[in-house]
Amino acid sequence: MEKDNTISRRQVIGGLGAGLAAVAVAPVVDATASDKHNYAVQKLEDPASKYPKPPFKSQSQPWPGLAGKMEPQPDHGEKSYKGSGRLMGRKALITGGDSGMGRAAAIAYAREGADVAINYLPAEEQDAKEVIALIKAEGRKAVAIPGDLRDEAFCKKLVDEAVRQLGGLDILVNNAARQQAHESIMDITSENFDWTMKTNIYAPFWTIKAALPYLQPGSVIIATTSEQAYDPTPDLYDYAQTKAATMNYVKSLAKQFGPKGIRVNGVAPGPIWTPLQVSGGASQEKLMKFGSQTVFGRPGQPVELASIYVQLAANDGSFATGQIYGSSGGAGQP
Ligand code: NAD
Ligand code: MG
Repeated sequence: MEKDNTISRRQVIGGLGAGLAAVAVAPVVDATASDKHNYAVQKLEDPASKYPKPPFKSQSQPWPGLAGKMEPQPDHGEKSYKGSGRLMGRKALITGGDSGMGRAAAIAYAREGADVAINYLPAEEQDAKEVIALIKAEGRKAVAIPGDLRDEAFCKKLVDEAVRQLGGLDILVNNAARQQAHESIMDITSENFDWTMKTNIYAPFWTIKAALPYLQPGSVIIATTSEQAYDPTPDLYDYAQTKAATMNYVKSLAKQFGPKGIRVNGVAPGPIWTPLQVSGGASQEKLMKFGSQTVFGRPGQPVELASIYVQLAANDGSFATGQIYGSSGGAGQP
């Protein structure tokens, strides 16, 4: 035993020699690394010129809006997101999975190997159908559950149905939200205020309560919050406070669920080109120069956040809980 642990001077020198030899051939090894793993070379992409910049065409859709009718069309990763099996075997439920960040997460999750259920409003069937087809194209189970999250009974039914059809649940993404811009607090009716609170605060409360009994250690809850949680604009008085509440529930539930092995994290986007913005979320004036205030002079595209939703769900992100990951083009505070 003792002999095994004894390293002779000759072994040390021999080892050093091998090390030096490795250093000498290192450049050759690096040059062939991509071939060895079958990786394609990742070309550098300039984030400033990668996606459309304002000025954008003035456009307005009735709420909740369709991604398919936006100009230019948002990029949710339909053609660009490549998976590598990071979520193989996972079962995910994503609210607002038909468009925007939810759709980008749904496509990415399916390409990473997860079965995915999406919730959306009946008016968004057209967008949802495209997402369902994209999930199926990956050979994954795709479950469509339309319905209004402002209804507590529906939230419970949504989770139960997702669990039944997926055969379990280990990723819950609370992403759906309502955002309507109002110049003044005086323009916000109690009905409108309540609508925003019900969608953005109550629905996650109800879905999380319904999902908790199913979540095993290793499961995750991911919330979509916003840079508005930290630095609200004056026209989003009601919406911005719901995003602050979202950021806050991530932190309290992370502490509550940590001992159960369930992680809770949030994603805080900056201005992203989604239907929410063209269906009352932004004024026409703001929309036409949407994203111009960022350091890249453009809005983000939903696909640019997809890998964050993957990272927060994957096993290798296991020490991240109670965190808010930002992606805002240079602003925001998380
Ligand atoms: P989006 O319009 O594509 O997604 C929002 C979704 O919410 C809709 O698709 C709809 O299905 C769902 N929804 C709204 N009310 C609902 C209800 N009552 N019942 C069921 N579903 C309902 O827009 P998005 O920008 O991708 O929004 C996703 C998340 O991103 C939201 O939480 C939003 O607050 C957040 N966010 C967006 C931006 C941005 O600039 N677009 C910035 C920061 C945060
Ligand atoms: Mg939508």
